[in-house]
Amino acid sequence: MDYIDPHIHMVSRTTDDYATLARMGCVAMSEPAFWAGYDRGSVDGFRDYFRQLTETEPKRAAAYGIQHFTWLCINAKEAENVSLSRDVIAMIPEFLDAPNVLGIGEIGLNKNTRNESIVFLEHLELAIKHNQSILIHTPHLEDKFQGTRMILDMLSDDQRLDRTRVLVDHVEEHTIAEVLDRGFWAGMTLYPVTKCTPERAADMIEMTGGERLLVNSAGDWGPSKPTAVPDLIFELRRRGHRESLIKKVVYDNPIEFFSKSSNFKFKPRDAS
Ligand SMILES: [Zn+2]
Repeated sequence: MDYIDPHIHMVSRTTDDYATLARMGCVAMSEPAFWAGYDRGSVDGFRDYFRQLTETEPKRAAAYGIQHFTWLCINAKEAENVSLSRDVIAMIPEFLDAPNVLGIGEIGLNKNTRNESIVFLEHLELAIKHNQSILIHTPHLEDKFQGTRMILDMLSDDQRLDRTRVLVDHVEEHTIAEVLDRGFWAGMTLYPVTKCTPERAADMIEMTGGERLLVNSAGDWGPSKPTAVPDLIFELRRRGHRESLIKKVVYDNPIEFFSKSSNFKFKPRDAS
């Protein structure tokens, strides 16, 4: 089955992973800007990273027939440096017209600090000013419920925001309902260690019906599995779900959400 991974950090993956993903049916992916495994020292460090996301990775992906899209920001892990964050936010518009940029992300909270909130809100301003969709990282483990609440409150306080253009990622059983009830999109991240397994994701699809729901592998520097989305497809089939429901979650939903970004020009496989 053709599928789309809406959240995968390919800068941390090898070319062999691109080849494997293509063979597993991945036809498109989106890569939010995130931590590089180390704190970058200057705005030029981020400029080079954004060039990697808008120039290098699309070419690496295209070599395997995969369309690569991306989101730009300074992530919450580096947001404690507010002055560097402001310099990066001021530089991001240089890249918003690049053909694979879908919006601002993954912004969010990591340790739920005041500086993280300041930088989060300034990213929201940037997104609204430039009419961009938003992809949001919610904190992990014990901070998740509190951090997700803080994020949803900051989003809900801004009346200018179109909630159908906001994806709140890394939801789990205790956060998914509120994200969907408030009108946002929700993303589930399949991880071998923390976060969510394919079985738990299948449970959440069964509980919610799959509306406004996306599923991703994160595929990053930590222990992660870039082919986790096919694992979910397999689990849903094992449970006897209809192919149309599976396709909705792993293909139709990402296309519907990404289509809210003016740069999203998707070429389905059978149209070429
Ligand atoms: Zn991520």
